[in-house]
Amino acid sequence: MNNDLIKRDLATVWHPCTQMHDHELFPPIPIRRGDGVWLEDVNGKRYLDAISSWWVNLFGHANPRINAAIKTQLDRLEHVILAGFTHEPVITLSERLVAVAPRGLSRCFYAAEGSSAIEIALKMSFHYWQNVGEQRTRYINLSNSYHGETLGALSVGDVALYKQTYQPLLLQPITVRSPDCYYRESGESWEQYSLRAFEHMERALQHHARETCAVIVEPLVQCAGSMRMYHPRYLELLRAACDKYRVHLIADEIAVGFGRTGTLFACEQAHITPDILCLGKGLTGGYLPLSVCITTDKIYQAFYAEYGAQRAFLHSHSYTGNPLACAAALATLDIFRDDDVIARNRELAEQMRRATASLQDYPHVAEVRQTGMILAVEMAQNKKTRTPFPPEKRRGRVAYLHALGRGALLRPLGDVIYFMPPYVITSEEIDLLTDIARTSIDAASDLNA
Ligand SMILES: *Cc1c(COP(=O)(O)O)cnc(C)c1O
Repeated sequence: MNNDLIKRDLATVWHPCTQMHDHELFPPIPIRRGDGVWLEDVNGKRYLDAISSWWVNLFGHANPRINAAIKTQLDRLEHVILAGFTHEPVITLSERLVAVAPRGLSRCFYAAEGSSAIEIALKMSFHYWQNVGEQRTRYINLSNSYHGETLGALSVGDVALYKQTYQPLLLQPITVRSPDCYYRESGESWEQYSLRAFEHMERALQHHARETCAVIVEPLVQCAGSMRMYHPRYLELLRAACDKYRVHLIADEIAVGFGRTGTLFACEQAHITPDILCLGKGLTGGYLPLSVCITTDKIYQAFYAEYGAQRAFLHSHSYTGNPLACAAALATLDIFRDDDVIARNRELAEQMRRATASLQDYPHVAEVRQTGMILAVEMAQNKKTRTPFPPEKRRGRVAYLHALGRGALLRPLGDVIYFMPPYVITSEEIDLLTDIARTSIDAASDLNA
């Protein structure tokens, strides 16, 4: 490996989601080039990017169409303030997002990171209720949820690893048991379990609706929460209940949006429209930071008034609606429009299912589960009881290092190995990835259990 780059990195860079001490043993890998699903390090070794570089990449690294769109935009306008000014890319992008989003969503408010979109959704919902004369201060979230790591977003998440340390600083949400189907009774279907889990949500809404601004959920897949999955019927019931109890529904599709679950947006599978839809990650095809909250005319109108009435939404970020990012997002939407991506993904998802089906029989594999282009393999100490490995015997890391050695980036979540690849992956690459996952799980299982 290029020791000079690593030395310089370790002297000044502080990496995300990393105990930097680990880099004494396993230094970061300097990447010099990307091409499709492949990343190439400075020595020429290639890695199949099975997790789309933290779930952002949709159509491969160095995608010629997205590259070209950004280059064209770069020669016209790199950035302009979006308060008091506007530009064609942000206008066209807003029109096109509204056209493809669930029916009834009509206004786009932009930011850069996904977490910022969550902050916006939380503030927008709170401020809406204030503008219509109701003082509400709470949010309902699901256990095992993840919505980002700024303080508001962290508050409505529920992954202890990220949250625990900062607890004294956070809002106190009303946390309801997740419909995550990993814990269903044997013989129980996803649908039955998710419907049963809804009773907890119904009860929370009964008790807390009048103090609650919004319910926030990740539709269908709790991604950072170990790729746990649930049935779309839960979302149908949730939409109906939010209407009944007059509470907003915030759908965080930052990870699951843009075709990940088999439809363009996960909400489509439940035929629902949230009050606020949060998008990020794949919005620019994995090129540039851009996120957006798309909301209804009803919410928008509650902020519309004569100047100075304390009603306006004064939230802002420096790079709101950046034109280069909008150009990347438009090129991404073009690919969805021109290439029949959703239909092709259905075939890829089926190939992933077939390739990995036999992993279910492995001694330490408790479950192989899938929603569209997300396929997760959960390892456990006891397959039958689904007892997890104790923290000191975590297997994900062993599998990760093994996979790197064989040329795949399969960064796990705890003991869950998952495929969430760019949509340009081929069936040969799926087979290769499955083979690497298989030997990685073998390597992890070989340790004294
Ligand atoms: C990644 C993620 C976020 C946060 O997005 P960032 O761009 O990392 O700030 C929020 N919600 C979900 C569901 C995510 O997966």
